[in-house]
Amino acid sequence: MLYTSTRDKSVKVSSAQAIAKGISADGGLFVPESIPKITMDDIVGLTSKSYIERAKEILSLYLTDFTEEELDSCVNGAYGGSKFSSEKIAPLHSLGDGAEVLELWRGPTCAFKDMALQLLPHLLTVASAKSNPDKQIVILVATSGDTGKAALEGFKDVKNTKILVFYPNDGVSPMQKLQMTTQEGSNVGVCAIEGNFDDAQTGVKRIFTDKEIGKKLAGRGMMFSSANSINWGRLVPQIVYYVSAYCDMIDNGEIKPGDEINVVVPTGNFGNILAAYYAKQMGVPIRKLICASNANNVLTDFIKTGTYDRKRNFYSTISPSMDILISSNLERLLFLLSDMDDKLVGGWMSELSENGKYTVSDEVFKKLSEVFEAGCCDDAQTKACIAKTYNENGYLCDTHTAVAIDVYNSYKADSGDNTPTVIASTANPFKFSNAVLDAVHPGICNGMDEFDMVLKLHEETGAECPAQLANLKGKTPRFTGCCKKEDMEQVVFDMLK
Ligand SMILES: *Cc1c(COP(=O)(O)O)cnc(C)c1O
Repeated sequence: MLYTSTRDKSVKVSSAQAIAKGISADGGLFVPESIPKITMDDIVGLTSKSYIERAKEILSLYLTDFTEEELDSCVNGAYGGSKFSSEKIAPLHSLGDGAEVLELWRGPTCAFKDMALQLLPHLLTVASAKSNPDKQIVILVATSGDTGKAALEGFKDVKNTKILVFYPNDGVSPMQKLQMTTQEGSNVGVCAIEGNFDDAQTGVKRIFTDKEIGKKLAGRGMMFSSANSINWGRLVPQIVYYVSAYCDMIDNGEIKPGDEINVVVPTGNFGNILAAYYAKQMGVPIRKLICASNANNVLTDFIKTGTYDRKRNFYSTISPSMDILISSNLERLLFLLSDMDDKLVGGWMSELSENGKYTVSDEVFKKLSEVFEAGCCDDAQTKACIAKTYNENGYLCDTHTAVAIDVYNSYKADSGDNTPTVIASTANPFKFSNAVLDAVHPGICNGMDEFDMVLKLHEETGAECPAQLANLKGKTPRFTGCCKKEDMEQVVFDMLK
């Protein structure tokens, strides 16, 4: 299996090279040249297996230049031991009426990013040993909150790597900020920027693709790689849990082999839902992919109209990990939907960076509409959904998951589509205690600090705060810097000194 670039089809690299590089030199994203297929028999065969075994089988179809032993040790390193709070790694929780919440936040940092970022350092270590054995890898991350912590935790003290995370100073929750600024490890750095997530992501992308900076780094025996979902090594582990969820729904009797399901994903950078699209193209019977957004509803409009227009207000919401107006992974979907037309995709991406806007061809829009549905909700609707889900289903969910549940409820009411549905749940509610507590008990948070709210949320609902969050109380931040977005490059080199 070879990988090519969404902006230049003549590029051909191995999966190890795609993962080690992170992004193609032409600014495009790496994608596999074809999508491997699995049959319903294969899927049924996986139902009796553990998550680790399922992961090994799916990953081996994409990472064909990794040996069985290498994959084995990567997957066991990521999901083995007791790093996840569920033996199933990504368990389902039924809300009744065919709705199954897929809990993707059972890992060390309590957000779904762990599903990929516990594995990526292992993949990257193997990949760089194959493709660039004598280079030290420098991981640069732009985060809207959860990726940063998950990447820091995944890469801390990993040999031959350094990791540096940029986050928007006013764009993450207090718990997310504390998780990052207190990070331990000898190879880690964290810096806030004055700006929003898109500023952080644009800055990181620019540093990545700047040839001069690349040369400077090479002179020191180092190379950049990415832990953002532009890296294929972030995407591929996410395909696994959609296959796994389908297996678990066969297992729990929700569906019979071959039955269709829908999937709802609270979406930001379009990585998670793209992984579900890959699962569908592999052979998992997924009918509709429902893209759920908060007030930053650029994707809702795109899926409904075919025009992507980022020139709009940016809102800071209570689901900050989805406060994004430039969804990088959409580029991969467009490449697939246009039958790998690199020129067309490259053209749309130039229009986006030059004019902030592009419209896809009728053909691509038609294919998009056959599979994707979209909806959005604002903060008030998000809170109302948290309260309703808690009161009616006895299930406490975080703000991002609530966006997905709300959009699912609206879709079901409007369409009458009763297909059993997987709703991706992307964070533990205690990461967003303020909004969640205020939703179940309006007004109660007044004057409370973050950890008062954690305690109160526990007392009110009986839900347990994960120890790794509760233990942050009273910890002194290690990283307190905040830079202008123009100064990100300087911060990078200061850290590498
Ligand atoms: C990252 C994140 C999302 C968005 O996922 P994408 O793959 O960027 O679309 C949603 N919810 C939470 C909690 C996240 O951390």
